[in-house]
Amino acid sequence: MTATRDAQISTPAAALSELIAGNKRFVYGRPRYGHDVAQAAATANGQKPHSLVFGCIDSRVPLEAIFDQSFGAICVARSGAHVLDRSLIGSINFSVAELGVSLVLVVGHKRCGAVHATVEALRGGATVGGDVGYVGYLVDELAPAVHEVGLTDEDAPEKAVRANVVRTVARLQDVPGLSEEIEAGRVRVVGAVYDLDSGWVEFLD
Ligand SMILES: [Zn+2]
Repeated sequence: MTATRDAQISTPAAALSELIAGNKRFVYGRPRYGHDVAQAAATANGQKPHSLVFGCIDSRVPLEAIFDQSFGAICVARSGAHVLDRSLIGSINFSVAELGVSLVLVVGHKRCGAVHATVEALRGGATVGGDVGYVGYLVDELAPAVHEVGLTDEDAPEKAVRANVVRTVARLQDVPGLSEEIEAGRVRVVGAVYDLDSGWVEFLD
């Protein structure tokens, strides 16, 4: 498969449409893009990505695949439960300022291990990942979304996944360098939740 992508995706609306369409192609089993070396070579001398997709490190959520995107189409940033830090914010800033992306899509997913572990830790003192190294940073950053939902809620982990997406989107809207672009209508930040079972992405727009 050597299809090249439409180079005319340059607005937030067009970028969002392309990701919605790509997810549909993925779910229906009709992907347009393989990941062969010809596509790599086609973009070797330049790139004009339309979006930055920011998701979890979870091995079941490969972002280029679930949105059926080719080489050069999307920038990808990932961390546990898409927790932000300065490096990630700087990378997102870079993708907007230097690479010209017009959409930042934050993708949470069902049964997110990091969110579930945080709920368990806050409920009863279970440790997360043995509490080694910087794992505690993830828990600290995810705790506000969990508390927003409430620890007593039976469905707290799944609701916290959504709350965490909404919080990440809200936080990015206020980032210097992004907020001005959003204000001017050149960039949008949108949230989404991926369903591991069906492959569908629900856009929270
Ligand atoms: Zn996850």
